[in-house]
Amino acid sequence: MARREFTPKVYAQIVHRAMGGDGGIACEGCGLVLGKKPYHVDHTIPDALQVDKSRELTAADGKLLGVECCHKPKTKVDVGDIARAKRREAKHLGFEKRSRFAGSRASGVKKKMDGRVVDRVTGEEIRR
Ligand SMILES: [Zn+2]
Repeated sequence: MARREFTPKVYAQIVHRAMGGDGGIACEGCGLVLGKKPYHVDHTIPDALQVDKSRELTAADGKLLGVECCHKPKTKVDVGDIARAKRREAKHLGFEKRSRFAGSRASGVKKKMDGRVVDRVTGEEIRR
């Protein structure tokens, strides 16, 4: 199902709500007056999490965020989380930097008496 977007009418309502008395648009995330700075109308609840997809989006479903102050930093954090999760996964899989000496505890392998190198954890033989 396609991601639902705000209708122009609802979009206008959100922009109107974010306007101060002087007609300047302020970020609804931090209150910064945006002036001519770019903004983005963000879905308050990610579309994928909405239970009733037939319900029309209203102004209450959106938040006007300044791109510089609130929308971009939020996106950056998401990317950082993904990078962190990837690093965690890499470590879990044993790709972190280690000593390459077979037999040292950090190498993850051990050398058997017969000269075969086996994985310290699984005991499987490793061919090099
Ligand atoms: Zn902001």
